[in-house]
Amino acid sequence: MTTSPKRVALVTGGSRGIGLGIAEHLADAGYNLVINGRRPQSDVQATLDALQERGAEVLYRPMDVSNVDEHAGMLDAIRETFGRLDVLVNNAGVAPSVRADILEAEASPESFDRLININLRGPYFLTQAAARWMVEQKQANAEFKGVIVNVSSISATVVSVNRGDYCISKAGVAMATQLWAARLGEYGLGVFEVRPGVIRTDMTAGVTEKYDKLFEQGLAVEPRWGEPSDIGKAVTHLASGDLTYATGNVFMVDGGLTIQRL
Ligand code: NAP
Repeated sequence: MTTSPKRVALVTGGSRGIGLGIAEHLADAGYNLVINGRRPQSDVQATLDALQERGAEVLYRPMDVSNVDEHAGMLDAIRETFGRLDVLVNNAGVAPSVRADILEAEASPESFDRLININLRGPYFLTQAAARWMVEQKQANAEFKGVIVNVSSISATVVSVNRGDYCISKAGVAMATQLWAARLGEYGLGVFEVRPGVIRTDMTAGVTEKYDKLFEQGLAVEPRWGEPSDIGKAVTHLASGDLTYATGNVFMVDGGLTIQRL
């Protein structure tokens, strides 16, 4: 086993959308990358090649983050390939399969369980496993600067009554961030929450017209969609490990959408 001379970041859901925006900025900042997604490697090879062209060594691990039993295998593979893990970005997440009024039966227990499993339970236990390894690394090397970044959403506090399960999963991620920040502070490991607004990705492709109109009408202070690179820049700053005294913070990247205005 060789140890990567560069910092190593694991980005769940790094194969497209916001996660890919984060991976691109981390590659540009000199990180080696572990990219996780659900699709087989052959489907994402072009994306991995493009990240490699930015100077990163890239390991791809297909896995559903809600399969907690598979987390250890992914971390073992990272140990084998890179010998270290400096940054975990819990980004993978899903919207409800159907947006349904919370009063209606279509807003079902099955949808609720799926959202909680993928958006909250999976990342919570992946954090547990990664944090244990980061603590080991810190104990072996006082210079080690481990960071965990959770990608939540403005839906952690902004109500959408047609996707209650999504909102609750993201509110849970906000609490998980506080919990891990409090628990890992003694090891100097920083834990942060990045809260995107409305970002142009596959997840929001179905509501393009709605948000085009809302942005025109002044939904956000900066009158445009957010782009994955907006989130990538924010996460890359937090990932440096230089901001540990700000641990537990929420970093809004929403174009000012949630600033209350009269
Ligand atoms: P996206 O375009 O749909 O991409 C989702 C990414 O996550 C893909 O790489 C996908 O892998 C991966 N993924 C999905 N489910 C997974 C699972 N169970 N296990 C492992 N990987 C999984 O979504 P996005 O818009 O970039 O969203 C990324 C994160 O930002 C999510 O947590 C989302 O809730 C949050 N967010 C998004 C917005 C927005 O406006 N887009 C706003 C706020 C917060 P495959 O490619 O293999 O399917």
